Amino acid sequence: MTKILIKGGHVVTAGKVTQQDVLVEGEQITALGDIPGIEVHKEIPAQGLLVLPGAVDTHVHFNDEFMNTMSVHDYESGTLAAAFGGVTSVVDFSNQLPERPLLHTLEVKKQEAQGKAYVDWGVHPVITHLRPEILDEIPLLVQRGAPTIKCYMVYREEGLMVEEKDLKRIMKVLQKSGGMLMVHAEDNDLIEKHRSPLIQKGFTQAIYHARSRPPEAENRAIRRCIGLAEETGARLFFVHMSTKEGVDLVGEAQDKGVEVLAETCIHYLYFTEAQLERKDGIKWICSPPLRTQEHQDKLWQGLEKGQVAMVTTDDAAYSWEAKLKGRDRFDQCPNGIPGIEVRLPLLYSEGVSKGRLTVTQMAELISTRPAEIFGMAPKKGTLEPGADADIVLFDPEKKWIMSQDTLHMAADWTAYEGIEVTGRVEKVFSRGELIVDGPRFLGQKGRGRYIQRKLK
Ligand SMILES: [Zn+2]
Repeated sequence: MTKILIKGGHVVTAGKVTQQDVLVEGEQITALGDIPGIEVHKEIPAQGLLVLPGAVDTHVHFNDEFMNTMSVHDYESGTLAAAFGGVTSVVDFSNQLPERPLLHTLEVKKQEAQGKAYVDWGVHPVITHLRPEILDEIPLLVQRGAPTIKCYMVYREEGLMVEEKDLKRIMKVLQKSGGMLMVHAEDNDLIEKHRSPLIQKGFTQAIYHARSRPPEAENRAIRRCIGLAEETGARLFFVHMSTKEGVDLVGEAQDKGVEVLAETCIHYLYFTEAQLERKDGIKWICSPPLRTQEHQDKLWQGLEKGQVAMVTTDDAAYSWEAKLKGRDRFDQCPNGIPGIEVRLPLLYSEGVSKGRLTVTQMAELISTRPAEIFGMAPKKGTLEPGADADIVLFDPEKKWIMSQDTLHMAADWTAYEGIEVTGRVEKVFSRGELIVDGPRFLGQKGRGRYIQRKLK
């Protein structure tokens, strides 16, 4: 078994940073501490570097077909960019095909990942058309390691929306079978009501995407869904929460004992809706839309105080050609921002370097909590004996500029062009294997494994 000693780095573990060594044997971490004079195959000097648990991104869309276009990130290009961003586990969404069983969502992703994935991966099945047989399949999905099911409260025209009475039925079954419902909370009716008059009046530029989906559309859906969680006792998770009211609503529900959690995404923490006013504003069309500074400030507070449990990317990478469909009509633009690679360096730079988060808080937000909440702990998301040796060596001082040249994401454009950040991923180990070494990629295609997840 290959033994690797990572020597003298600042190791970030639960709540503390300690200068110590990490011993890796085979695929696992076997010891932490001062480990002198031991015979190993390779010693990796890590003085001056942070040693972080590999990041976990539970919100990515690979091979995603949406608004008549297919995302350019598949399991090969998506997990390659992930790895360069320090991400060693991803969980992807798999939309139900109306006529197929729900279990088919797992098969589709297994086929897509086979021979391609560079890092470990899991699946969230997405229910779009509820039939009684679909409910019967939920316990089977839980058993097969996909206990987190997503539903959309929006996108009726795209055929994705689930009605509230159906959400309730799904929640009841998830509650009994040890699963959790993830919800895209935006009120479809309210958005349709805002959108049509805007388009009729010729208000079709990117900024009107945000106007057509005001904070109230999200807040209303959040409120109603919390009500359903209260009624059913089911666990609820809000994906990509973007509003200040959402932070309060989730916090209040938690105080009442409702089992509800929320994430936000890196783009809501860095950009505001001002981006949508730019000439190339379609780059920042995503849903929910970017909000004002006030909302962003509250999301940061929510991260510090805990109402917002974690940060993901909602990576949805469409080509520039596809995004251009929205140039003169915001509602024709595929919603999504490629971001799978930027989360760790940007959160470090904006959060830790600027004093808003401690480095241990950052590791919690992008590794530990996502792994715990989504049933991958303690194998993933933490550095401790027995855990998978998913390890990132991170240079906290290195300044660099994000651009199409320095990033590895597969879209032919980036929303992060020209952003200077402090802190850079230097080396990435996935289950003990060095897959990123500075600019070099060393991982073998298809080495990533399915993560059998189980909620605590
Ligand atoms: Zn998403």
